[in-house]
Amino acid sequence: MKNKIELFDTKSRQLQPLVSSDGEKLRVYSCGPTVYRDAHVGNMRTFLLGDLITRLAKFAGYKVEFIQNITDVGHMSEDFVEDKMLAQAKAESKDPFEIARIYEKRFHEDLHKLNITPADSYPKASDCINLMQDLIQKLIETDHAYLGTDNCVYFSAQSFTGYGAISGNRLDALKPGHKFEYTEDGAKRFHADWALWKAAAGRTEMIWDSPWGKGFPGWHIECSAMSLHYLNQFVDLHIGGIDLRFPHHENERAQSNSAINKEAVALWIHGEHLLFEGRKMSKSSGNVVLVSDLIAKRLDPLSLRLCFLENRYRSQMDLSWDSLKAAHLLIQRWREKTAIWANDENIDKNQANELIEEIELDFSQDLDTPRALQKLRGIEKSQTISDGVKYQVFKAVDQLFGLDFFKPVLKDDLPADLENLLKMRQSARNSGDFKESDRLRDLLEKNGIAVKDSKEGQSWDWQL
Ligand code: AMP
Ligand code: ZN
Repeated sequence: MKNKIELFDTKSRQLQPLVSSDGEKLRVYSCGPTVYRDAHVGNMRTFLLGDLITRLAKFAGYKVEFIQNITDVGHMSEDFVEDKMLAQAKAESKDPFEIARIYEKRFHEDLHKLNITPADSYPKASDCINLMQDLIQKLIETDHAYLGTDNCVYFSAQSFTGYGAISGNRLDALKPGHKFEYTEDGAKRFHADWALWKAAAGRTEMIWDSPWGKGFPGWHIECSAMSLHYLNQFVDLHIGGIDLRFPHHENERAQSNSAINKEAVALWIHGEHLLFEGRKMSKSSGNVVLVSDLIAKRLDPLSLRLCFLENRYRSQMDLSWDSLKAAHLLIQRWREKTAIWANDENIDKNQANELIEEIELDFSQDLDTPRALQKLRGIEKSQTISDGVKYQVFKAVDQLFGLDFFKPVLKDDLPADLENLLKMRQSARNSGDFKESDRLRDLLEKNGIAVKDSKEGQSWDWQL
């Protein structure tokens, strides 16, 4: 029997079981990055959600098909004036597709550093223009979309009766003048209609031929076209950050449901935002943190993963350098312990299996990762559980946590000059010259090395 997985569905506002509608595999779609810049740690929190759910589902015995799109065209910036890709291409004096490929590569590298299992496919918007055009054509034919007087194709919001179910933003409550995505209200029939296809107008890059003239796709149509195509016309679970609830997911749902004439997504989940040291991460506040910033501070990137797991995905969380350092030390401690526990052959298999199941259950109940971590701490400290059982439990649940509990704790090689300072300090201590040894300790500290003295002699670690 597979364990029942329940997740909080944004649309019905209650826990719903995750079900494979074709009885074969779970069809999962997650909105991916817009590849005009490095993904920050907030984005990574949302990208982790897909990984946690696919790990859990596979652990429980499901097959999973997981698709995540790469937005490399059509995502307009917050001020609705310029395409994010084109703006960055201009800023870096590069071709917009070159920009896309650079940041797409870095996105995959960051996922890898956080042990985020790759999706089965990462379709790019620019490779799926035909798919989007076919879908738009279908929506025009069924009177869900129309060609505006400005040669843009618009979705007719009023043609879809269930608008607003995800976000609560019903059409009659949306005021005219509300900025949806684009500003060409004059050409639309209704103020809440949005563009599926944008006419090129003066734009010369990232444009394609279409039955409606040269232009480029809107952002929302991308996710409808890709999710329906790659997941065979139905999505069991759709994932994204909370900011995408409206208008992105509301519009995607209207498009997809209108195209297939039924509900296209069974379950919508949204991850809450990450703050950094109490504030929203933004370029203007200067507090955007990247995975590479953690590595530069010699923190294990998985300390970020652990910090995320300490918080339920549905609550806003505040990350800080202090919490990252604490997580780094905890992962190290666990790795040191698992290396010791590995030597114990005293294993009560039933006890181990019970503990593993309890932890799996926490994950299955709407990803209660804080509770699962609490259990893990309890097992680590327990006087009654044998080391052998502890080893078995940590080994099994690492498939869910993805924290590399069994990676050896290695220190980077020391540069020769620092190695030399350590040797000098050791000889100063050996000869009883404590003044010199203290001076050298201070010098090492200034270079980021913490020195410890114990019965076994002098040891060092990188200062966090
Ligand atoms: P973007 O590359 O801007 O399209 O964002 C990619 C994903 O990251 C989307 O699902 C967003 O909802 C999500 N996201 C953006 N900012 C944050 C944040 N501060 N915390 C968590 N998720 C975020
Ligand atoms: Zn999307």
